[in-house]
Amino acid sequence: MELLPEKQAIIHADLISAVFYLLSGWQEFYSDERDQHGRFPYAASVQHQYGFVAVPVVNYYFDVLKTAIEHVSGQPLRPRRWADGRAWAAFITHDIDNLYSAWKAPAKAALQRRDWLDFARRYWQHLTQKDAWDNLTEVQQTVAEYGAKSTFFFLPEHRKAANGTPNADYQYHRISKSVAALVTAGAEVGLHGSIGTSAHEAQLQRAIGQIPRLAHNAQGLRFHYLNWEPRITPLLVDELTFAYDSTLGFAEHFGFRNSYCLPFQPFIFQRGEVADFLEIPLNVMDATLHHPRYLQLAPEEILPALTPMLQEIERFGGVCTVLWHNENFDPANTRNGPREFRAIMEYLRSHNVAFVNGSDICRSFHHLSSGACKGPSQPETKSF
Ligand SMILES: [Zn+2]
Repeated sequence: MELLPEKQAIIHADLISAVFYLLSGWQEFYSDERDQHGRFPYAASVQHQYGFVAVPVVNYYFDVLKTAIEHVSGQPLRPRRWADGRAWAAFITHDIDNLYSAWKAPAKAALQRRDWLDFARRYWQHLTQKDAWDNLTEVQQTVAEYGAKSTFFFLPEHRKAANGTPNADYQYHRISKSVAALVTAGAEVGLHGSIGTSAHEAQLQRAIGQIPRLAHNAQGLRFHYLNWEPRITPLLVDELTFAYDSTLGFAEHFGFRNSYCLPFQPFIFQRGEVADFLEIPLNVMDATLHHPRYLQLAPEEILPALTPMLQEIERFGGVCTVLWHNENFDPANTRNGPREFRAIMEYLRSHNVAFVNGSDICRSFHHLSSGACKGPSQPETKSF
């Protein structure tokens, strides 16, 4: 960029089209590449090709425009401030896939070793004791220790998908009392859309009906397995009037799928306009950090690996969205478990982050959308 003294600015790079390309998800919409879960793969992205997944380049482009506007107008543009005047925000979320399956893998391993005694002990524990993953209160309390509040996405489908992919290991209607207790204690609740709901309107509509609407609470969404079909999902989420979605991150790598570290209204190609709902991009998921098909970071490598990304979000006053499944609050997980979660939370707190939930974020972006923060439309309204 070249600045001229006479209240003019000339920007040589075609910033606007670069911004639009990344923010709209153009590469996903026009690509036929999908992985075994039907997702646009990180390996096919420009972020992977040019190695900038952890750099929010759209924010850098906007910064160039901001400098130009400040030069031309002679007025400094004030940066966004979060609660209590804090410079950046963090959104702590939990997808609830499993509540009762902690015992299964060790029991299966005991069977394979033909260690009948160990198997019998584990099976007996399973019959008589609470499962280690039945821990929603502990999850909420752990998060609250940092002055943060949890957002739980519940999966109202317990049957497997047609292709055998598992959904929940629990039945949502049977845990409604625990959900109500979480809400009373200050948690936010959202819908975790089961396999198929990201591409089929009737299925998504049915799922909405299964999650009771809590006044100004259940208005957000994240799809199971981060399922997102760029040619269909934005339209569905918009038509069913969710206030926000928080699915858009790459499962394979932490960082910025749309190269932007703030919530934004996704572009709907079929309509040539932006959606009403807010996308709150997902930056880091527990499974990404240690998984056979994703990264295999050692516990002590996790925070150093994430730090440059966290610094970028802080620099631009963005939102850091963290997904930590309840099953990874099990102390038996020493790879991407409670210790690694706490290390991230300590970093966030020590860097003076504002802990917010989806409703807080919607409220701060209120001026962008056509109406108030809406909840999903419901065929029937139930309460606990
Ligand atoms: Zn899930």
